[in-house]
Amino acid sequence: MIIILLGAPGSGKGTQAKMLSSKFNIPHISTGDIFRRNIKENTLLGKKAKMYIDKGQLVPDEVTCEIVDDRINMDDCRNGFILDGFPRTIFQANELENMLQKLQLEINYVLNIVVTNQSVITRISGRRMCNCGQIYHIDRNPTKIDGICDVCGEATYIRDDDQPKTIKTRLQAYHQATKPLEDYYLKKGLLINIDGEPAPKEVFNEVVTVI
Ligand SMILES: [Zn+2]
Repeated sequence: MIIILLGAPGSGKGTQAKMLSSKFNIPHISTGDIFRRNIKENTLLGKKAKMYIDKGQLVPDEVTCEIVDDRINMDDCRNGFILDGFPRTIFQANELENMLQKLQLEINYVLNIVVTNQSVITRISGRRMCNCGQIYHIDRNPTKIDGICDVCGEATYIRDDDQPKTIKTRLQAYHQATKPLEDYYLKKGLLINIDGEPAPKEVFNEVVTVI
């Protein structure tokens, strides 16, 4: 099963992707996570991506496409995968079609997690990350001990691009680049809109109902 998740930064699509990944036992491929890991390890790719991400801009298409192509050709993707953060442009969507054609695979669902800009701003400014992959929110999903991850006990932190000043730029970039994608997948009969406003568990119930 191949699922694409669309949704603004802060729509909760990362959380939905994780839940889908464990329910269907297929990998969750987040281009954002891949970039952040490379930035942390200071790889060549990381240095390249950091220049754009720090400014709240999107990483160029050719860089992103190469990463995704490498990843979906790995063995653990044979039974399907979840794409989170890719494609973001029509160019990337067309490239993905080509990649999948070579693998003789097809997209099953494109889930569009819909939330208002105001919800996004509230959510992102309260988001806290942990190096182990856990994601928290100071109101919606707080850690038991303030600032300490429930799972691994390390200190949580605010992602560089979750700083309030970059959120608005990210939302603008998202809507500008990604809106045409909704039409693209609507025409292909793959797009399913999901109300992303309720709690993550309720959103997930809706997701499971429609697929
Ligand atoms: Zn942790």
